[in-house]
Amino acid sequence: MRRLPLVVLLSCALVLVAGASSSSAGFSGAKAKAWAGKLAALGQRPAGGRHERQAGGIVRRRFEQLGYDVTVQRFPLPEGGRSLNVIGRTPGRIRVIVVAHMDGMPGTRAANDNASGVGVTLELARRLMTKRGVLLAALGAEERRHTGAGWHLGSRALTRSLSPEQKAGVRLALSIDMVGVGTTLNVRGLEASPNRSARRLLNAASRVGIRASYLRDTGQSDHDDLTRGGVPAAWIEWRWDPCWHQPCDQIHRLRPWKLWAAGKVVRNAALRVVG
Ligand SMILES: [Zn+2]
Repeated sequence: MRRLPLVVLLSCALVLVAGASSSSAGFSGAKAKAWAGKLAALGQRPAGGRHERQAGGIVRRRFEQLGYDVTVQRFPLPEGGRSLNVIGRTPGRIRVIVVAHMDGMPGTRAANDNASGVGVTLELARRLMTKRGVLLAALGAEERRHTGAGWHLGSRALTRSLSPEQKAGVRLALSIDMVGVGTTLNVRGLEASPNRSARRLLNAASRVGIRASYLRDTGQSDHDDLTRGGVPAAWIEWRWDPCWHQPCDQIHRLRPWKLWAAGKVVRNAALRVVG
């Protein structure tokens, strides 16, 4: 009876080490958290503000460093001012789209929502830079409660910039949003049953041995505007975070192994398409 807790502790430690270490072959949860920390350290990042722009600068420099072809989309906000998307592409027809919003609700550091998603995206960028047909984006102005818009403005601007031919070529599209806190890994979508992007993520999760389940949602992240704009998309999220939109949404709460698990699933799904 006494041995059981030790075994449990050892397996937990192994999982933590696997998730947090920076193995050269795998996805590093620790590095994803370090990127998230850079964004959270800027301060509050409401859409249209200086810190959102600075977050965009961090992403742009990293994409450029890795050799992505980078464009910055700027778009107006309903209350005035402008927000931005930073988009990195590899050569070839777009097959995979991965987005994460970098803006946050005022009054919070927006570490889990959603520096966590941007951190995972930046770590994925290192893993996907040699593949053709990849579009990664850090989006602005996702938080509708702040922008007062009926849309997720960044993903709407991105989706509208794609031609019908480009949309038709996409095989996997997803939003990484809130992936550092919570007990359940969910793949989410607007549909009653998983669309093709959600299916690809769920299949990837089972291939890599990470438990994930489908949970329908009403469009609470950027997959909403991608899907409505003609690119069937999914949202990957760890749930639930009691500090959502609260001042306690701080970087120390992000667990590297949760970032690692989300990143591993997305990477596996993406490599099935562009690998
Ligand atoms: Zn979010």
